[in-house]
Amino acid sequence: MAARNKLAITGGRVLDPGEGIDQISDVLISDGRIEEVTLKTGESKFDGYEVIDAIGMIVSPGFIDLHTHLRDPGQEWKETITSGTRAAARGGFTTICAMPNTDPVQDSAGTVEDVIRRAAVDGVVRVLPIGAISVGQHGKQLAPMGELADAGVIGFSDDGNAVEDGNLMRQALAYSAEVGLPVINHAEDKKITDGGVMTAGVVATRLGLPGAPNEAESAMVARDLYLADLTKTQLHVPHISTIGSIEVLRSAKERGVNVTAEVTPHHLTLSEEWVFGLKGEVPSSVGLESYDTNTRVNPPLRSKADVRALVDALRDGVIDIIATDHAPHAATDKVCTYNEAAPGINVLETAFSSVFGLVNNGQISLVRLIESLTTHPASILGRDVGRLRKGFSADVTLIDPFNLWVVDPSTFASKSVNTPLNGVELTGRVVRTIYQGKTVFHSQLEVRNNG
Ligand SMILES: [Zn+2]
Repeated sequence: MAARNKLAITGGRVLDPGEGIDQISDVLISDGRIEEVTLKTGESKFDGYEVIDAIGMIVSPGFIDLHTHLRDPGQEWKETITSGTRAAARGGFTTICAMPNTDPVQDSAGTVEDVIRRAAVDGVVRVLPIGAISVGQHGKQLAPMGELADAGVIGFSDDGNAVEDGNLMRQALAYSAEVGLPVINHAEDKKITDGGVMTAGVVATRLGLPGAPNEAESAMVARDLYLADLTKTQLHVPHISTIGSIEVLRSAKERGVNVTAEVTPHHLTLSEEWVFGLKGEVPSSVGLESYDTNTRVNPPLRSKADVRALVDALRDGVIDIIATDHAPHAATDKVCTYNEAAPGINVLETAFSSVFGLVNNGQISLVRLIESLTTHPASILGRDVGRLRKGFSADVTLIDPFNLWVVDPSTFASKSVNTPLNGVELTGRVVRTIYQGKTVFHSQLEVRNNG
């Protein structure tokens, strides 16, 4: 009988941009760690290994999400560490970084240690907490950043709120430099947003919804880039979504500012026309299906020109990574008017497949996609994850590139179902996720269990 702690993933296309691997290989796992990626398949000795046939599959390092909202503690009816990590596993993510806007806010060592302790017991994948920048995320007084760093946070963010006070942001950057962790500032000047619930423009006008200009984001990104340059600190820009933000980001990178940036799957694939509720189609007249509250998100869905620019910037490496901004909300937060709806999209379980569409239509390469979900987020974290390197944690994601499926939120492991992709057909799917050498998601086993 095969020992349970030895695993051989055989015959798949092993793709690890960090290690420079893209070939048919076998991945050997022992005691929860990568033992070896063989140069040629079939030459390995599999005695004593549990064998996983990966012929026809893409074998990737487990995905890393730098931006997840777990809602735990405080809003456990939306998501918990258990459900959120199970959703992550279904999406191919083996490491997720939890945003601090919980209740209580992650602004003290005690709250952070509580999440770490419970995630180790209840989580099926790795949870790395992000600490708050300011006490209570109120933007008035810095959180104890040194204490939070000692407790194990991987960065600082008041996500949901931007740090509006420029001098507080400057101080946050200076302190974060001391502890060597990035500041992730939610890039939105709410004074410029001024109550807008979607992007200002023709669609907002037709729907009669208050619009916010793109500059609410771009202006905040520009300010933060100058402050990061001033303090020589690592800045990570979350959910970048406008052409203006891309322009200031590109120019800052050319000046050598220490900055990285992320884009979400929805900003890469959905435009503001999705608010019409017809999966991106523009109706001849506004009907009952319009105002799809599941499209309400911060930053809001943008124009098609912004979407194209985001894809180009990801392809060219101006935007470094894809992060989900997984934001589960209860039905009651979405069964209401568009103005009242809570902003946020449930993303973990559709993230890979929706972006894989960009690979299928030739807009970005598969290598770049995998890199933006593995190697690059790992280098922002500075942790030994995201590679199939000998001795690294055996975190592996198996993808069936031809799997055709229809998004059905009722099958989500997440506690929430707030996605505008309900009923959308996608190609390419995560079929198995292995974390520390153990299978934490397997599509066929799941079907069998349900049957
Ligand atoms: Zn945010």
